[in-house]
Amino acid sequence: MHSPAKETHKNFSNNRLKQEYKTIKAMIEIFCRAKHDSGAVLCSDCEELLNYAKKRLLHCPFQQNKPTCGNCLVHCYKPDMKSKVIEVMRYSGPRMIYHHPLMALRHMLDSRRNPQKLLKKSDIKR
Ligand SMILES: [Zn+2]
Repeated sequence: MHSPAKETHKNFSNNRLKQEYKTIKAMIEIFCRAKHDSGAVLCSDCEELLNYAKKRLLHCPFQQNKPTCGNCLVHCYKPDMKSKVIEVMRYSGPRMIYHHPLMALRHMLDSRRNPQKLLKKSDIKR
């Protein structure tokens, strides 16, 4: 199965999720380019991870009030995807400020949200 990494964002219902998707996509791109020697296109592993991330975002119970990836998405990922995404974030997180300063800044501001005030843990579907 092959799906192109360059997808439109139009199936996201709100800007928070769109922004979140752009951020994780940028992080995966930085990681893949550095670690897997890929060019303009992601390697199949990283593309799979990105598609998985997108699927999780589309099903995120927080929607508009979603916290950022680092605060929340690692809790809803299945174990193998989770360890991959943690590796990506560990590598690309600190580099985002150089590659995408505005995105990194917005992400930092968004990460101050606290989802626990909005939803109980039991409401989160896995
Ligand atoms: Zn890769």
